[in-house]
Amino acid sequence: MEQIVKSSKNTENDNIFYTIAMRGMVAFPKMVLHFDVSRDKSCKAIEYAVKEGKKLFLVTQHEAYVDNPKASDLYKVGVVAEIKQVLKMPDHIIKVLVEGVYRANLVRLIDDGSVLKAEVKRTPTYSRSKYDEVEAQALVRSVKDIFERYSSFFPKMPRELFTSVMTQDNPVKLFEAVTFNCALNYRDKQTLLEESNIINKLSVLFACLTSETEILELENLINEQTKNSIDKGQREYYLREQMRVIQEQLGEDDGDDAFNYINDIMALKIDDKSREKLLKEADRLAKLPAASQEAFVIKNYLDTVLDLPWGVCSKAKISLEKAEAILEKEHYGLKKVKERILEFLAVHMLNPDIKGQIICLSGPPGIGKTSIAKSVAKAMGRKYARVSLGGVRDEADIRGHRKTYVGAMPGRIITAISQAESSNPLILFDEIDKLCSDIKGDPSSAMLEVLDSEQNNAFRDHYIEVPFDLSKAVFLTTANDVSRIPAPLLDRMEIIELPSYTAEEKYHITKEHLIPKQLKEHGLKASQLKITDEAINDIIQFYTKEAGVRNLERKIASICRKSAKKIASGEVKRISVKPKDLKDMLGIRRYTEDLSLKENKTGIVNGLAWTSVGGVIMPLEVLVLKGTGKVEVTGSLGDVMKESAKIAVSYVRSFAEKYGINPDFYKENDIHIHAPEGAVPKDGPSAGVTMTTALVSALSGLEVRADVAMTGEITLHGKVLPIGGLREKTMAAYKAGIKTVIIPEANRADLEEVDDAVKESLNFVFAEDLSDVLDTALIKK
Ligand code: ADP
Repeated sequence: MEQIVKSSKNTENDNIFYTIAMRGMVAFPKMVLHFDVSRDKSCKAIEYAVKEGKKLFLVTQHEAYVDNPKASDLYKVGVVAEIKQVLKMPDHIIKVLVEGVYRANLVRLIDDGSVLKAEVKRTPTYSRSKYDEVEAQALVRSVKDIFERYSSFFPKMPRELFTSVMTQDNPVKLFEAVTFNCALNYRDKQTLLEESNIINKLSVLFACLTSETEILELENLINEQTKNSIDKGQREYYLREQMRVIQEQLGEDDGDDAFNYINDIMALKIDDKSREKLLKEADRLAKLPAASQEAFVIKNYLDTVLDLPWGVCSKAKISLEKAEAILEKEHYGLKKVKERILEFLAVHMLNPDIKGQIICLSGPPGIGKTSIAKSVAKAMGRKYARVSLGGVRDEADIRGHRKTYVGAMPGRIITAISQAESSNPLILFDEIDKLCSDIKGDPSSAMLEVLDSEQNNAFRDHYIEVPFDLSKAVFLTTANDVSRIPAPLLDRMEIIELPSYTAEEKYHITKEHLIPKQLKEHGLKASQLKITDEAINDIIQFYTKEAGVRNLERKIASICRKSAKKIASGEVKRISVKPKDLKDMLGIRRYTEDLSLKENKTGIVNGLAWTSVGGVIMPLEVLVLKGTGKVEVTGSLGDVMKESAKIAVSYVRSFAEKYGINPDFYKENDIHIHAPEGAVPKDGPSAGVTMTTALVSALSGLEVRADVAMTGEITLHGKVLPIGGLREKTMAAYKAGIKTVIIPEANRADLEEVDDAVKESLNFVFAEDLSDVLDTALIKK
């Protein structure tokens, strides 16, 4: 370096140089660089320097746009450089190649109007002060690391340069190799030039390079994203163009349809694979004549799919207090059911993504299963949809038909989703126990898939074809008879039983819910129509016979209709319905009181049965006639009942003498067993004790107490076995004015579920053996 300086032929003043104000460029000692010069003063500086064999002083302008820089427009540190090559180009442009020699401070700028000169003071490029070797090496490594990242953005960077940097351990050489070859901002470069401590130089270099690399990375990302969106746009554009051309060829202008479909499909929130599939359909549509059957099918299909609430969720938010209030407001009683539902909601509140909890509300018709489900949907802030499964025997009912079938439609699940207009509704599967399976396929397996949280996030309907996510929906089911639910489905459900209502409960439900609801539906005010309490009780007792309140509601509706007519026609202003008016409004009484015994008799026993309308008193009659040992059974008794009759006969033979019965009665007599209300089918083993008691009474001539009712299955050895439906049966006994009820000992624990009023007024006898029953029921002579 020294040599070069000495060899130069400075004549006038060693410290005064022709000067070039650089724009956006910084030179370094030892750095070779070329640049173009066009400003007059700069061209002259080069001309004179070459002529006089002098070096140049290169100093950078603060701002590149300044045309005629003064001293204050220039940085204070520059580089003295040797001119290596000069090339004159047309248009007053000179290309120069220079090599930096040493660093110098600008002391004074001399501007004579035609050329710039500067008096400078030479400064060492690197300070001599000692530096920490370890720190330097750490910096060397960091700089190399960041250089590696940086260079990945320049695939055309010469291999040798990359290798020479990566293998360089000398801090100074590394600094120069990186600084001279990286396209850093000129201000950063100026800072690097002004620093003289190598540690600082490397630190600044590291910082500059890091920020530069980060910018590059970000730039890259943005480019990538823009490219993607352009690709998508292009694809769409391409499809549209293609369609337009085809339509032109066919002379049709119905292409707008397909355009619209494509637009809508692009806007849909679905996965790419499904989108692809739908676009393909739209594509096909575009190519079909508009009036063709196939185009019609595809349009129908796309309409259906596009109408589905893809990704549309109602903001489900649960507040337990609100939920409780809603349940309480809309339903009378049902304490246990409400409690259980609130627990269910609480779990959903704490863990909204909970899977696999499916509640089944079970019980006879009209006890509010459907309406509880609606309230639950309201409490959860979800849309409500009902899928009726009664009589569904074809898998296609659940999953739909392929769209190639004539008149194909989606299955009931997708239809429900579409009606709910939300992908997270509460779906009620009504009467899941009425699913049937036959040769057309098993609908319960499709239901399994729907209810299984592992599979239902991609439910496939045959018609829709693309998978739909059901995992956000909440499912409830209802059933009349839990024992008929297919076992694998039952396995996934938690049963909540809704018991049948007592007359008292029915009264409250009528007064607080059914009447206000029906008044509203018929546009009547409470002041216009009153139904007295006595009338309500009469309707419950003489016009309906059911476990729930559905018929009751119909009767109330019928009264409202008739009253509305009278009021609307101006016949009356207001109506008060009393028991005596019921005959006019509802016709004659449909039901009398239960057929229970009024006086003690032989051969007739009050049995208790559990039917679809709740519990009933069912007297059993036995007649013993002279004959040849035939056993006749009438009154629509099922097979199990017929067997009970045989058991009764055999058992009575085994102890005939004890009750003074002719031991040969089974040979010398015909026995006729009958249950009244012959048209109503009856079955089940729980009439065992009733039949046996009636038989003993008829054969022995002992009277049966009319105020006793009984239920229980019996074995060949006279043991009394437990039965179901205790609550309903005892309720029937209570309503019929029975005093004593004989129930199996094994049912003692079930007494808990029996209504309090019933428990208080009935006397319970727990029978283990038939002798317990006979002792209570027969009147000894
Ligand atoms: P299910 O689904 O069990 O057959 P529904 O839900 O259709 O019965 O009920 C029939 C009618 O009775 C509905 O109008 C319902 O609102 C009403 N209902 C049933 N139970 C109650 C109750 N506990 N409180 C108020 N209304 C009730």
